[in-house]
Amino acid sequence: MLEVIKTRNELDAILNKVPKEYSIGLVPTMGNLHDGHLSLLNESTQQNDLSIITIFVNPKQFGPTEDFNQYPRTLDEDIKKIQNLNLKKQVIIFAPLNATEIYGENFTTTISMGAITQQLCGAIRPTHFDGVTTVVYRLFKLSRAHRAYFGQKDFQQCFIIKKMVKDLEIPITLHILPIIRDQKGLALSSRNQYLSKEQYEKALHLPKTLIKIEKAIGENQHFQSIIDEELLNKDWDYLQVLDSDTLEQPTQKTKELVVIGAYRLGSTRLLDNRLVKYNA
Ligand code: AMP
Repeated sequence: MLEVIKTRNELDAILNKVPKEYSIGLVPTMGNLHDGHLSLLNESTQQNDLSIITIFVNPKQFGPTEDFNQYPRTLDEDIKKIQNLNLKKQVIIFAPLNATEIYGENFTTTISMGAITQQLCGAIRPTHFDGVTTVVYRLFKLSRAHRAYFGQKDFQQCFIIKKMVKDLEIPITLHILPIIRDQKGLALSSRNQYLSKEQYEKALHLPKTLIKIEKAIGENQHFQSIIDEELLNKDWDYLQVLDSDTLEQPTQKTKELVVIGAYRLGSTRLLDNRLVKYNA
């Protein structure tokens, strides 16, 4: 039921034999799997006959000074974690040998979506989302998936991928699943392991602050003063309350807000967000 493959040829050979009526679910990851990733795979196996989880540290989404080389690569452990789920459906782990298996030879295309890729995380990582949209498009194509599963933790990424699917009329249904957190409330992330003990304790300030703002919104209090005070602390890359539908400033029409932040601990950036119903 579980197969590990490393080339596009192997993937094509499997997909060519899949019955036409089968539904295929895709779970794109960069590996070093945790319960957040596994929740996506679990959901995919419940909804599809065949699930493909990809494990690929995509060089295109890392800037020249970022952690591409250090990013944790733990394929053997990842495979064990998936085996231990004892999933009853067919699962393929596609861990390409190299980038050519994803992009082919002489690939020069970039999918670039403009202004939304330059705000929030994009203001600090200006080429990041071009790398994300380009690889996700390739993965959609290679996997022939009907459904794809992403985590709300990367809210801006989900927003951008939704828009790409709409703009390019890609025939795939997106499923955005809730953030899985550890016992203390920190969103799980492969980058959490970079944190020292002290940095971990400090990192909890990120989810706690988002909860504080969420509460203030719920009680109709002035939340902007909390944000202004927080931003005096330069560890925040950003902390904002936006319309979750547009990723712009809330308006009279806003139905739901996203409280969204990126917090830096040494060279590690952590992301988190919370959705809050809103009646202006
Ligand atoms: P990554 O390997 O970091 O690229 O993440 C692969 C997928 O897992 C993305 O769709 C992420 O949003 C999702 N993901 C990462 N962390 C979590 C989490 N804590 N809870 C739910 N989904 C997550």
